[in-house]
Amino acid sequence: MSATIIDGKEVAARVRAEVAQDVAEFLERTGSAPGLATILVGDDPASAVYVANKRKACAEAGIVDFHQHLPSDATQDTVAALIEDCNGNPEVSGILLQLPVPKGLNGKELTALIEPDKDVDGLTHVSAGRLAQGAPGLRPCTPLGVIELLDSYSVALEGAEAVVVGRSDLVGKPVAFLLLERNATVTMCHSRTRDLAGVCSRADVLVAAIGRAEMIGAEFVKPGAAVIDVGINRTDAGLRGDVEFDAAADRAALITPVPGGVGPMTIAMLLRNTVTAAKLQAGLE
Ligand code: NAP
Repeated sequence: MSATIIDGKEVAARVRAEVAQDVAEFLERTGSAPGLATILVGDDPASAVYVANKRKACAEAGIVDFHQHLPSDATQDTVAALIEDCNGNPEVSGILLQLPVPKGLNGKELTALIEPDKDVDGLTHVSAGRLAQGAPGLRPCTPLGVIELLDSYSVALEGAEAVVVGRSDLVGKPVAFLLLERNATVTMCHSRTRDLAGVCSRADVLVAAIGRAEMIGAEFVKPGAAVIDVGINRTDAGLRGDVEFDAAADRAALITPVPGGVGPMTIAMLLRNTVTAAKLQAGLE
């Protein structure tokens, strides 16, 4: 293996320490700490774990916890009213509706109700539009984490050939726009892309956000590329990314492992977004 392994745990720990410092400074300047309202509807065990991890990380950074848990039979109107409450509460800097919501609720419609300046997941239409137009705003957490990793390892983005595999609203599209914002030449690939390996093998920066275990083999990787694997796939052999790690690491200059690469970055960037949101609302950003 010739590649340097990108240590997401280390970068995330640094971001979290910076956020804790920012929170302390914000508290000193304004007299109150930033607050995050995580909204969990129902009892999906995976969602409960994700929310618990986010709350724990918030507490460690000094962010105030405004967690709300609604029963699985909560109606669309009940959840909507709660979001509106949080929108109007000046102590709540950021709002995160944990997705997916239970059947019978429309997660997209509910997400759209979040006040854009409190949209710490960056998933509302307004946030997506701001990103697409290069206007200031809150960006989605995992894509921000991808850029933070590339920056932490001094990967040159300006003018670089970047290929993103996956075009979801959650990961692929925002990653592509963030790379474009940094003046990379961006190609977005998806399930209908012809000659995917050929397109990927041109990439100086290759981001895989597909959800298919080890689909990206050595032939997809340009020698010397930076490879960022967003995929999280549970297989019989354990947790795997979208990239065939050993084969890709023989060709890449830099590569993220799974786990321990992009994964830890998502919560770190959520914390940073919460502070950014608090500053926006306080007129400090
Ligand atoms: P998604 O909504 O299912 O999107 C997957 C994308 O991959 C789609 O755009 C799809 O293309 C494309 N795709 C599927 N099969 C393909 C193929 N054979 N060739 C080329 N493209 C193909 O998934 P997502 O939410 O973006 O998540 C992607 C992965 O990232 C998942 O493994 C997820 O668990 C992981 N993830 C990780 C984090 C983290 O914190 N590390 C956060 C979020 C997601 P079409 O649009 O044409 O269908």
